[in-house]
Amino acid sequence: MVKKRVLQGMRPTGHLHLGNYLGTAKGMLALQEDPNYETFYMVADLHGMTTPFDPKKIMLESREVILDYLSCGLDPKKSALFLQSSLADLHVQLAYYFSTVVTVARMQHLPTYKEKVKQYPENVTMALLNYPILMAADILIYKASMVPVGMDQEPHMEVTREIARKMNLLYGLGFPEPRSLETKSRYIPSLTGEGKMSKSVEGSYINLTDNLETIKERLAKVPTDSGKGNKIPEGGGVYTLLTIVELFQGLEKRTKYEKEYKRSGIKYQDLKNELAEAIFKDLEPIQKKRRELEKDRAYIDNALKDGTERARAVASKTVKEVKEKMGLI
Ligand code: AMP
Repeated sequence: MVKKRVLQGMRPTGHLHLGNYLGTAKGMLALQEDPNYETFYMVADLHGMTTPFDPKKIMLESREVILDYLSCGLDPKKSALFLQSSLADLHVQLAYYFSTVVTVARMQHLPTYKEKVKQYPENVTMALLNYPILMAADILIYKASMVPVGMDQEPHMEVTREIARKMNLLYGLGFPEPRSLETKSRYIPSLTGEGKMSKSVEGSYINLTDNLETIKERLAKVPTDSGKGNKIPEGGGVYTLLTIVELFQGLEKRTKYEKEYKRSGIKYQDLKNELAEAIFKDLEPIQKKRRELEKDRAYIDNALKDGTERARAVASKTVKEVKEKMGLI
């Protein structure tokens, strides 16, 4: 049986948060366990360089992502784990070939690009503009057809499919048109009540490494209302709380709170305390595994070495094929 391939990458910009975990890591795990798929999971450290970064920290933070992956249950025997920069010669090379079929205007109009320009007006670099092209190369270099990403990455997935189509049409290549894994947690809203949970917005997230007290503190700051009303909020802090309640305590619990909202009223302090306990119950085993793995440097080194070799074998074949079809060999 020919297995379908999966690629996913996380930027090394701090610890994973609940958005990364629910929006991506859970899907990565499910696909790893599915015999129909072959999984390639990387740390997107080159993508981490598209916004300001500290050269003294980037490698350490990449290892933190690998630790997070492993503690969530990713298994280096089943999934190839590697750093994007370990294969920069191939990924960046392919991104360059792809850039010959993408216009500057297409990149400049992407909402993800515009957001970053607003966030980092002093850092509007070519690397930032090229972000989606490198992502397309990351995915297509493994001919991956499935990508477990959050909703925020959808515009980049569209660019990837466009590139695949163009390369196939112009050069007779056989790239798949990859799609995102559909899950009900592809968009985790921010604890601030505005936008999505994000590493770059302080106060918006709960980290996978947070202890119960920290989770309680973070939830305590979520803005709420009087707890009562005719219409269930479809945005803001209350919406965020109800969304997370559903994901950690189930739909029934959410429905119960929604009924209370329309009748007797929600007591937010109780809701937040119960929710904190439920989140921590899920995170505790992950944190325990993390503490064990932290002591085992060799395990992580070996996982990366093996994963890089497996990824290189596939990636180098694709680059050779593209070079041939583009007339370079
Ligand atoms: P990043 O931190 O931007 O490298 O994102 C890593 C992965 O987590 C990507 O697949 C994102 O789509 C996903 N992700 C990030 N934030 C969220 C969120 N708030 N909800 C769902 N998925 C998310």
